[in-house]
Amino acid sequence: MYFKMGVGLIVLSNLLAGVAIAQTSPTKTDTRQDPRFGTDPARNNLPDSAINASRPPNIVLKANARGSDPLPYFRIGPDTYMFFGNVAEVDRYNRGFNGNAGFIVTREGVVVIDALGSPKLGRRMISTIRMVTNQPIRYLILTHNHPDHAYGAIAFRQLDGITVIGHKGMLRYLESERLERSVDYRRSFIPDDMAGFKPVHPDVLVDGRLYSKHTIRLGGRTFDIYNVSDHHSFGDLIVLQQEDGIVWISDLAFNQRVTYMGDGNSKRAVEVQDWLLKKFAGARLMVPGHGSAQRPPFPMVRKTQDYMKRLRSFTTKAMQDGLSLQETVDQMDFPEWRKVRLYELNHRPNANFVYLEMEQDLF
Ligand SMILES: [Zn+2]
Repeated sequence: MYFKMGVGLIVLSNLLAGVAIAQTSPTKTDTRQDPRFGTDPARNNLPDSAINASRPPNIVLKANARGSDPLPYFRIGPDTYMFFGNVAEVDRYNRGFNGNAGFIVTREGVVVIDALGSPKLGRRMISTIRMVTNQPIRYLILTHNHPDHAYGAIAFRQLDGITVIGHKGMLRYLESERLERSVDYRRSFIPDDMAGFKPVHPDVLVDGRLYSKHTIRLGGRTFDIYNVSDHHSFGDLIVLQQEDGIVWISDLAFNQRVTYMGDGNSKRAVEVQDWLLKKFAGARLMVPGHGSAQRPPFPMVRKTQDYMKRLRSFTTKAMQDGLSLQETVDQMDFPEWRKVRLYELNHRPNANFVYLEMEQDLF
């Protein structure tokens, strides 16, 4: 079997070993599965490229796949590879492969960015990397603590000689009861894949003032890891591959889906998005935490920002008009966003979050 990956055409006969090209229909009784937003097995799709892809992938993973089975991956630059996850909520078809991650191979080792959403996915990432290179995995950079980005980290923690890098804010999350709740939620869909889960404490914590950076150099490559505060989680990082002009922006902007606001700060997010576009205007590629990578001028950033600004301006007006939280959430409908993935699931919680956030700011 062949499929195209970013650059060139790569033979992948055994790569798809653990990926079901599913022929079954979703079970109708599973009310948590919504085929519009989840993974519809009837619409299995792997795009030709993970860059400016018109449609996101629709990958169905087999429940009985092994940790040694590689995942589909895309080459998005010289020595740079991306796991292009489903644009969906976690479900029993995508098995938590609902975000992006990636790795860069240098002549002295591999740098991994994010760990996907379960210990099993972490193991499958490692198996995939092992297919591409024999270089040791030297770094895992966790852009933030959310499950879809960090719950595979335990698989990497077990490797010899690896350094895990994360934001200092992660520590607060790892000690909070939110961690337990989110682990239980994931286990409710994919208990076996979550087996062996343990929170991973980074070896190196990135902290300091906003936009300060921590630089690592490996095999002739330079990686600038920027502290972009807690705009989306308990602490967010972005990563620049200096020589390649590739920026891993994590959940600072979403492509092909509506953002999720549950931990962060919408005002801060808007500021950081402005900074991102200015600072990296000359970048060649941005890779978001969800959806396809994008070439300049990176329209996903403004699109995400417009949505967030609109939530804020609607809320400001609603508060001036004396609307309650409930009334505001009920009235805040953005019709042109309705067809965008995860609108139905995330929009009301986002509206709720921004109202409470802005109410807090009044005091
Ligand atoms: Zn995410």
